[in-house]
Amino acid sequence: APETAQDGAAQDSTVHEVVIVGSGPAGYTAAIYTARAEMKPIVLAGALDAGGALMTTTDVENFPGFAEGIQGPELMTTMQEQAERFGAQIEFEDVVDVQLEGDVKTITLEDGTVYRAKSVIIATGSAYRRLDVNGEDRLSGKGVSWCATCDGFFFKDQDIVVVGGGDSAVEEATFLTRFGRTVTLVHRRDALRASKIMARRAESDPKLSFAWNSELVSINGGEKVESITVRDTQTGEEREIATSAVFEAIGHLPRTELFQDKLELDEQGYIVVEGRTTRTSVEGVFAAGDVVDHTYRQAITAAGSGCQAALDAERWLADRD
Ligand code: FAD
Repeated sequence: APETAQDGAAQDSTVHEVVIVGSGPAGYTAAIYTARAEMKPIVLAGALDAGGALMTTTDVENFPGFAEGIQGPELMTTMQEQAERFGAQIEFEDVVDVQLEGDVKTITLEDGTVYRAKSVIIATGSAYRRLDVNGEDRLSGKGVSWCATCDGFFFKDQDIVVVGGGDSAVEEATFLTRFGRTVTLVHRRDALRASKIMARRAESDPKLSFAWNSELVSINGGEKVESITVRDTQTGEEREIATSAVFEAIGHLPRTELFQDKLELDEQGYIVVEGRTTRTSVEGVFAAGDVVDHTYRQAITAAGSGCQAALDAERWLADRD
């Protein structure tokens, strides 16, 4: 454990083999693998968001190994226990600064504690952009969702609303027509921002209808979503649309503020990795999970890439030592 230095800030003079930032499926899987490889990983799990995105959901029905499904928080607690069983040291603190260049990298926590490490695995995930409307928080997981792949199945033969106008909104809406009785795409403008081919396909889909020039005002319902209220951006008039589900598809915010100017990020802020590896632009720094992933964003793919990062880090250290 870190000692407290004379200036009050805790110092840990050990140079650890690997420090993992993040405790979602990617971080915990990297922890399980590096712990079993005797690398004694330190996991900086985050303070409020420890366990990652799945802590905010209920049923997870698509993570292999759980035939009856599993609750998100239970899945994450189990992953944590599995990592701890092999000796991963988990600290429930936020990282506030990193220095990634050179042989010894330093990672600073909010309370001033500094960890040193030869390698770092970043698995800080990616947040879904939220609409910040009334009812959104309260009905999250009760009809409000950010992931059609995850939750579409729950709304078989029901009315579904998708909010957004870009490629991913259209993709989600089109996918949801497999389940929904109707799917309504609510968009602030009078045309889609999505690529032409995708927009054309969506507009010719008989199950899909559009609420143009419509801004979401609130999501309504008691125990679960029952309707939304939208405002016409031209006339200001408000109306209600009955629905069982609201899928928000207005973008993602990869959690990479800490790595700005320290790692190569793409134009949307995701960490850039080399080919099929988890290597970042800095030697000894690896990244896994939703913080690198534009495409899949699933618990199982995040876990898979956490495994890759652990193997990449282990082999990189072995080649170096
Ligand atoms: P995350 O799970 O997002 O974890 C990121 C971690 O980084 C957190 O532990 C956080 O505390 C930590 N962190 C961030 N910044 C810092 C910092 N500065 N210092 C320390 N720690 C930090 N996927 C499925 O496969 N099936 C589902 O049914 C499903 N349902 C979902 C339902 C909801 C409501 C949501 C939001 C997502 C759902 N997903 C589902 C998607 C899935 O949760 C993500 O794809 C997955 O969690 C990504 O894993 P990750 O490890 O990359 O990141």
